[in-house]
Amino acid sequence: MAAQQLRYDGQTVVVTGAGGGLGKAYATFFASRGANVVVNDLGGSFKGEGGGSAAADKVVEEIRAAGGNAVANYDDVVNGEAIIATAIKNYGRIDVLINNAGILRDISFKNMKDQDWDLIMKVHVVGAYKCARAAWPYFRKQKYGRLISTASAAGLFGSFGQCNYSAAKLSQVGFTETLAKEGLKYNILCNVIAPIAASRMTATVMPPEVLDVLKPEWVVPLVAVLAHPSNESETGSIFECGGGHMAKLRWERAKGALLRADDSFTPAALLKKWDGVSDFSEPEYPTGVADFMGLLEQAQKLPPNP
Ligand code: NAD
Repeated sequence: MAAQQLRYDGQTVVVTGAGGGLGKAYATFFASRGANVVVNDLGGSFKGEGGGSAAADKVVEEIRAAGGNAVANYDDVVNGEAIIATAIKNYGRIDVLINNAGILRDISFKNMKDQDWDLIMKVHVVGAYKCARAAWPYFRKQKYGRLISTASAAGLFGSFGQCNYSAAKLSQVGFTETLAKEGLKYNILCNVIAPIAASRMTATVMPPEVLDVLKPEWVVPLVAVLAHPSNESETGSIFECGGGHMAKLRWERAKGALLRADDSFTPAALLKKWDGVSDFSEPEYPTGVADFMGLLEQAQKLPPNP
């Protein structure tokens, strides 16, 4: 990728949940680099209560005061069609979609109510789907699109009191990996980020000295690079980023154990080989089911169980 200042002149970027936190940082950045930006936010608390136009309006005012182009949209992300329609109506196109809107309903699994589960699924899973679904025909037709989805360490690793959020956030990985495969031939590149940043979401769970080194603006370079036309190949990837550190994550497969069709498909036979199941001394990095099938083909050539 070229190292000169990245610009987005003539492009339209939609950022969901851009009324504050990370979304605001993305929106103001893209506008400052020439993009037309749709600042979506329905307002409301970090638990998804209430709503209003003030959050999105304020960001749009800031962008315009700095000489940029932006328009507000106050729809819930589950109304993805209306959000993308705002981009088309005002700017005639959409080039980049950043699925960023999010809320929390933290509670232990024991005490979780269906509403806590359903609302989190609605905003993170349905919302991301609806926005991407509405943008997709435009991306395909113009043979260009950049989609950034937002996962979380909670989804990748689990997090106490966040099983609803964890499930919803890891869904973004499967969703985006599949869109990356389907979008490739149309030059639609799709990546997932798991950010860590100071925002109202993290304000109550991290100490101030930690929050000081987790500026939302410090996540922007990664999103900027992934969303730029000079990114011609990075797709279907997962990145952790926060505090200025950006790193790619991938699956790792252990050596494994093979049971054969010679009457050894017993738990006892597996227990004998259990060390291999979790032996990461010679890891592999699979990227699809074909890798597993290849591994089976290879295994057929091995001698039978001792
Ligand atoms: P934030 O609360 O500051 O921003 C989220 C924004 O989304 C808010 O402005 C909110 O009004 C908006 N929003 C919520 N529900 C919406 C809906 N249904 N429709 C439209 N807008 C809606 O939080 P943030 O930390 O900036 O989070 C941004 C994204 O990053 C979220 O998806 C969050 O889950 C994810 N994330 C954040 C962190 C972190 O450390 N801050 C860590 C992991 C993941």
